[in-house]
Amino acid sequence: MIKKILIANRGEIACRVIKSARKMGIATVAVYSDADANALHVHKADESINIGAAPSKESYLVADRIIEAAKKLNVDAIHPGYGFLSENAAFAEKCKQNDIIFIGPPTSAIEAMGSKSAAKHIMEKAGVPLVPGYHGDDQSESLLKKSADDMGYPVLLKAAAGGGGKGMRLVSSETEFKEALAAAKREANASFGDDTMLVEKYLTQPRHVEIQVFCDQHGNGVYLFERDCSVQRRHQKVIEEAPAPGLSDDTRKQMGEAALKAAQAIDYVGAGTVEFLYDKDGSFYFMEMNTRLQVEHPVTEFITGEDLVEWQIKVAQGQPLPKTQNELTIRGHAFEARIYAEDPDNDFLPSTGRLTLLHPPQENKHVRVDTGVLEGDEVSVYYDPMIAKLVVWDEDRDKALQRLLKALREYYIDGVTTNIEFLYNVAASKPFGEQDLVTTFIEKNKHVLFADEVEPDVEKLPMMAALLLLVEQQQTMKFASDPTSPWSLPTSWRANEQHEQILKLHYAGKDFELNVRVLNDGQTGVTTNTWQVSYQSNQWMISGQLSEHSLQVNLDGHRQRFTWSEKNNQFVIFAADEAYHFTHYLPDLGVEDDVDSGQGFNAPMNGTVVELLVEPDNVVEKGTTLMVMEAMKMEHSIKAPARGKVTSFFFKAGELVDGGAPLLEFEEDE
Ligand code: ADP
Repeated sequence: MIKKILIANRGEIACRVIKSARKMGIATVAVYSDADANALHVHKADESINIGAAPSKESYLVADRIIEAAKKLNVDAIHPGYGFLSENAAFAEKCKQNDIIFIGPPTSAIEAMGSKSAAKHIMEKAGVPLVPGYHGDDQSESLLKKSADDMGYPVLLKAAAGGGGKGMRLVSSETEFKEALAAAKREANASFGDDTMLVEKYLTQPRHVEIQVFCDQHGNGVYLFERDCSVQRRHQKVIEEAPAPGLSDDTRKQMGEAALKAAQAIDYVGAGTVEFLYDKDGSFYFMEMNTRLQVEHPVTEFITGEDLVEWQIKVAQGQPLPKTQNELTIRGHAFEARIYAEDPDNDFLPSTGRLTLLHPPQENKHVRVDTGVLEGDEVSVYYDPMIAKLVVWDEDRDKALQRLLKALREYYIDGVTTNIEFLYNVAASKPFGEQDLVTTFIEKNKHVLFADEVEPDVEKLPMMAALLLLVEQQQTMKFASDPTSPWSLPTSWRANEQHEQILKLHYAGKDFELNVRVLNDGQTGVTTNTWQVSYQSNQWMISGQLSEHSLQVNLDGHRQRFTWSEKNNQFVIFAADEAYHFTHYLPDLGVEDDVDSGQGFNAPMNGTVVELLVEPDNVVEKGTTLMVMEAMKMEHSIKAPARGKVTSFFFKAGELVDGGAPLLEFEEDE
């Protein structure tokens, strides 16, 4: 029996494991780095122990330190969560050697899935469908090219040792092959010290559909259906859902059984996920198996009503699976949106800082928020900048989607830039609503997702004007020193004789100037203004009311309600179809173009320098990419905030950089 579990992780996943352990009456131990001494997971656990300095390679990734802590505190089992040591076979083995149960699969299963080509060989033998392609030992260029020619272009070259999209090249035609192969090999060598390549047929419109499998130590296995994770940015999931829309029961069964075959081929035990590419014509192909609990497991929990962490613990202590395949059913539909501290409009650059406001939507039977942070916490450069997972459920996809939109509108965060508005735009977009899911979803729909890519729509301007005018009116009232003075009456609004004003705003990459006139000037007893707003030949009459997050606008007699938020004069109005993002240009101040993300020239997180793109002392224009860093599996561009020159770079390509470290020195041109 497991009586005490140490969770070798942090943040929301540590909190998540603690929740199930507590429910089962099992004591918990949290580990923490110096940066996490006051973190939520530490408070939630029964005991906690410091395992080192802030950088993960000095704490959460140090297997020996974690084992030592586990032995000192007499734990029976270690749950690795995901990330960190969760797929590290050596760590699993160390647990075993120290008589500590590793809550995960056997070492051999982790190892078997470590190489893409080895995994493919195993799956091929087990009869699991593979993407057509070549994954053999003969690595001669002529043979690789011949297999590409034979299967037909486009093809994808992949590093066998790959991960995070590295060493991967798309080849559209025969003429590109040679160069692409050389580039993929170079990258694979640099990243993994191994340039073994696979050639795969490139599917142009696939979906990412993955199957949750579970096996116990007695030879039983089940699948808990699928998740669609097609909405990805740079191969990282953004919104996941279960079940996969439009999947037939037949296909579901075939995929489930294929996934189980995959698991059984490596004598799997515990929770695992088999990832497939699902093609338009209904065929599906094995991609890889993740030998751990996935970030997106809560959508499966919502539709099956099962607690997967509880299952993991039961299986780890030798109990049979809690349910058989026939006892498992799908109920309703669930979505998960990953709330990140990042800036989607600046290449998803992680954003760091203090969470000065953290107000998630109310949790209930439809809404679940898995988080590992509290208001006042710091989102640091050291770890993944995920703030929370927002998970919603309802009886069908449309209803669940409405729940998701509502919950996103009610998620208030300040202090860091977040992706909430971007998630809202994804969820509210027509293709998402119509289930037009493909792995290229974000690229394909960027014109409705990113603030600077959307097509401006003048019909949205009066809503923006209403918000700005109401905010201004509220401030005038708030700051009026004497509430009885005519200056503080909302109808008087401004010491401007004509009661005319120009509102300047920046929206969808363009500047707009709106003319505003107050119409109900001089009327006594009127507490709200009516404005006439015009832009070129358009004219609207607006009035409205404002509260902390809610905006009610009466536009030419049509009353509508929205939620809104503001940060540094950047406003967002959440409408049913889209979040309108705009900047208010304050009179006299002008507004700088937001090229510098505000993070200066410091590394956004621990990572590697990929490339230096300019020569020191050469003058470059504002916005030029100076260097590229890779962190958290993503590349981040560091850009010139103004015309000027780099006087020195502090790192070379390939070097490791600690989060927060200065990267370069830049001198602006006078
Ligand atoms: P990595 O391990 O480097 O992340 P994967 O093999 O898991 O690489 O693939 C990552 C993503 O690349 C997939 O989720 C999918 O979006 C895309 N992808 C991979 N293989 C193919 C393919 N054959 N055709 C089209 N897209 C692919």
